[in-house]
Amino acid sequence: MSRDVKCRAGCQETETAAHVIQNCHRTHGGRVLRHNAVCHVLAAGLRRAGWSVEEPVIPTREGNRKPDMVCYKEDTATVIDTQIVSADSSLNDSHQRKRNYYAKNPDEPPKLVEKLGIDLKNLTFTSCTVSWRGVWATKLQEDLLRMGLTKNLLSSITTRVLQGSHTNWSRFNRMTNMKHRSPTREGIG
Ligand SMILES: [Zn+2]
Repeated sequence: MSRDVKCRAGCQETETAAHVIQNCHRTHGGRVLRHNAVCHVLAAGLRRAGWSVEEPVIPTREGNRKPDMVCYKEDTATVIDTQIVSADSSLNDSHQRKRNYYAKNPDEPPKLVEKLGIDLKNLTFTSCTVSWRGVWATKLQEDLLRMGLTKNLLSSITTRVLQGSHTNWSRFNRMTNMKHRSPTREGIG
């Protein structure tokens, strides 16, 4: 016996919490808001820890790309991308994908870092990678603690992720719009 559990927003996907919160077209706007809110908390914490924080926009062949932030202090710089991922098990994979991206696009952050007069050998990359259920990639959490962020600040990021996920869930249930176009690839952010 099979029951129709396809997403009520018209997606050809099963209506799971993961789909609703991380992939559904209805909650795309909510995911952007959640991402921006997390960046905001992170940037504020980094500034309190003495970092200067820039959020550049980089034009690429695929359109404008916004690496979330470049932090610098004295003669060092760190690029931090924020991502809220779908599966707890892919936390480190997602981080690795970001690193690979920079390895393939070496001009991107270095240009900005050079402009700041920082030696490229003092440039590092990390990311603030949290699952939609608030699980962190442990190694990355350690990177952020080493940068001077407090455990409290990391907890407030977790809280903001969970709030955003919950908001997406509530919005989904209040909305009535249906999908008319083919599914787009989403899920990170
Ligand atoms: Zn859907």
